[in-house]
Amino acid sequence: MSIRANDPTISSWLQVKTASDFPIQNIPFGVFLTPDDVITIGTRIGDHAIDLGALHQLGYFEGIPLTDDIFLQDTLNDFISDGKKTWRLVRNRISEIFEASNPKLRDQKKHREAVLFSMSEVEMQLPVQIGDYTDFYSSKEHATNIGKMFRDPENALLPNWLHIPVGYHGRSSTIVPSGTAIKRPKGQTLPKGANQPVFGPSKMVDFELEMAFITTDANAMGESVPVDQAEDHIFGLVLFNDWSARDIQKWEYVPLGPFLAKNFASSISAWIVTLDALEPFRVESPQQKPDPLPYLRHSGNNSFDIHLEAAIETPDGISTIVTKSNFKYMYWSMAQQLAHHTINGCKVNSGDMMGSGTISGTGEESFGSMLELAWQGTKPITLSNGDTRTSIQDQDTVVLKGYCSRNGYRIGFGEVRTRLLPA
Ligand code: MN
Repeated sequence: MSIRANDPTISSWLQVKTASDFPIQNIPFGVFLTPDDVITIGTRIGDHAIDLGALHQLGYFEGIPLTDDIFLQDTLNDFISDGKKTWRLVRNRISEIFEASNPKLRDQKKHREAVLFSMSEVEMQLPVQIGDYTDFYSSKEHATNIGKMFRDPENALLPNWLHIPVGYHGRSSTIVPSGTAIKRPKGQTLPKGANQPVFGPSKMVDFELEMAFITTDANAMGESVPVDQAEDHIFGLVLFNDWSARDIQKWEYVPLGPFLAKNFASSISAWIVTLDALEPFRVESPQQKPDPLPYLRHSGNNSFDIHLEAAIETPDGISTIVTKSNFKYMYWSMAQQLAHHTINGCKVNSGDMMGSGTISGTGEESFGSMLELAWQGTKPITLSNGDTRTSIQDQDTVVLKGYCSRNGYRIGFGEVRTRLLPA
């Protein structure tokens, strides 16, 4: 399958810095507020924000079956509902419009002025209205680390883990875009050695280095999505910081799993990078042993080589990268997650979001949370300014970044940046 917009030889008449996350081969989708306070669906090339609502009104999507107001909306849900064929036609058309040799928009000053903004003058919004949010637990290394700490080092993985993409239903009401500050949560914890809980601000706020995929309407209630068709229902991915309060989590999570330790905030990057744009970066998933049950079996390259990192920026402005991981370490693929999610007939809608779970690699330097990096507070991390951390402190900013890179071209996600405010 060849996707025109992914051709690495194409360059744009818009200026793009080398090593930009957003070359003309990316063409992500997002929602932004223009300087005139107009909300629109857009894309991005280099540091240029492109108003797709304006482009459509000017006739640039002629021949593609789109409703007149498809981009004049404050969420991408309806566009995502249009399906993969339409997403691909639109991405390919955007690529054509901005290709260096195409004069149509390039030489039309009035149109250019209506369509183009600088990234610094627009305000990014949450790209979709997230109806339902599910978080998986699909990194074997992460699940093993947590099992060692919270349960039994000898039997770190629970017996179901190698057979089921384990997950839980989260809440979408507190998912916020990059740049939105969050508050340290309060809650119940059981102090070490105590037999009665206390109430107060969490003392162990943590990030989780994750990615999340956004779905389209995948099925009717009662039907399931076969594993080999699941990717057709995935629109794209974002970076995902699944904020967690470890002390609240430890006290509350038995027997039904995460609750208030997780639903006070989760942060996503503002641009959804399509699965189509990630196509050139496919890689094999880790080998699965034992074989999963037939409904979860698939062949081919089902993962993506996406470099991930997390940094802590202290109030003095000094930033320290505390971990480097990769999306390809995920044991369960997105296709398996979606097939499993719907195998019982659970309905998945346009704009639903599925978190990968914390993505840890094998080495200590690739663990995806402070809980693991500082091993439950026993091994503090030293930052560039000499401070130490076992968890995130008030006024720290956590920044997650992610990108793919191959043969000199790079497709990135930008960042998700979140400051933690006091309780
Ligand atoms: Mn999580």
